[in-house]
Parts: sequence; C-alpha cells; structure tokens
Amino acid sequence: MKNIVLFGPPGAGKGTQAEIIKTKYDLFHISTGDVFRYNIKNNTNLGLLAKGYMDKGELVPDKVTIDMLSDVVKKNIHVNGFIFDGFPRTESQAVALEVLLEKFNTTISGMIALEVDDEILINRLLDRGKDSGRADDSNREIIENRISEYYSKTAILKTYYQRKNCYYGVDGVGEIGDITSRIMDVMSKL
Ligand code: AMP
Repeated sequence: MKNIVLFGPPGAGKGTQAEIIKTKYDLFHISTGDVFRYNIKNNTNLGLLAKGYMDKGELVPDKVTIDMLSDVVKKNIHVNGFIFDGFPRTESQAVALEVLLEKFNTTISGMIALEVDDEILINRLLDRGKDSGRADDSNREIIENRISEYYSKTAILKTYYQRKNCYYGVDGVGEIGDITSRIMDVMSKL
C-alpha cells in the first residue's frame, strides 16, 4: 500500500492536489474536513459536535476525530492506499494513525508538505470563501485562528515525520499543474 499524508496549513492546496493525485495513483482520498462537513449537512450528532469547533476555527477533539478516521480506514482497507488530507493534525492523531495502520501491516510512505507563506494563505482562503460557502473561509478572524491552531498543534508533525525520515517539503506556490509535478517527483521516490 502507498499511504500519503498530504500536509500543510489551511489554504495550502491540500484538497486540490489530493483530488488530482488520487486519480493518478488510484488512491483513496480521506479529508477529515470533508467528512465533518458532510455530517454537518446531514445533521448527524457528529456534525453537531464538530460544527461548534469548526465555526470558531478550532480543532475538533482528538478522540472524536480519530474514531471517525479509523472507521473510514477500516471500511476501505482493501484499497491501493490512502491520501490523508487534513489528518493527522496533532501528535496523538499521528500516533493513532500509526497504530491503526500497523494493525493492517501497513504504514505511512511519506508526508508531503505543501509550503506556503501565511499572507498568501489568508488571501487564498478569503478568495475561496467567496465561492465555497464555507463560513470558516469567509471571516479573517476565523482564518487567523485556524492558522494559529496549525502553528500551535499541527506544525510539530513536521519534526515527527522528519524523525521517521519520511518528510518531504514541496513549494506550494505557483500553477496547480506545477505543484502537482513537484508532488509527483516526490511520489516517484516513495
Ligand atoms: P479542513 O477542511 O481540513 O480545512 O478542516 C476544516 C475544519 O475541520 C478544521 O478547522 C477543524 O475544525 C476540523 N478538522 C478537520 N480535520 C481535523 C483534524 N484532523 N483534527 C481536528 N479537527 C479537524
């Protein structure tokens, strides 16, 4: 199995690239943000719980997120591999993912991190908010909170995967196709 963590701050382009990469490599794309939004739309208990955090730009608690992610992985374990988009976002999520994959005799092949400066991120998200209808993309304060959550809880995962020798940084600025090519260069090494 080839299992990729597509990593980067909000607005780095993870969702866009995951959609392209999943087709090229026949991988199963899991976006925890998308799963939460689906649950919010369908008024499930999980959706109700997640909404309270998402509306403020805060992370949903680990236990809830890990249980949800584990369910999706278990249900789809016979695929060629996964692209994890927006997960893990904390060290305990990273550990839980490792333990989960180990149970199925597989592991993370690499973390591909899209690197983009904060000012570009904020403008991209505000721009996306005009069309996406995402409340958390339309308000500068919420966006800044999401970026600050990223730096306080998520950015440390760079070191976590570097220690495992599977961190690959990619310049996330430029044309979408150029960024895809950079990702594919890394994929060819995994
Ligand atoms: P995203 O679509 O990845 O930008 O995620 C949107 C929001 O969903 C985040 O701001 C969090 O509130 C929540 N979320 C998504 N993935 C996670 C995760 N792995 N851990 C905690 N919260 C998450």
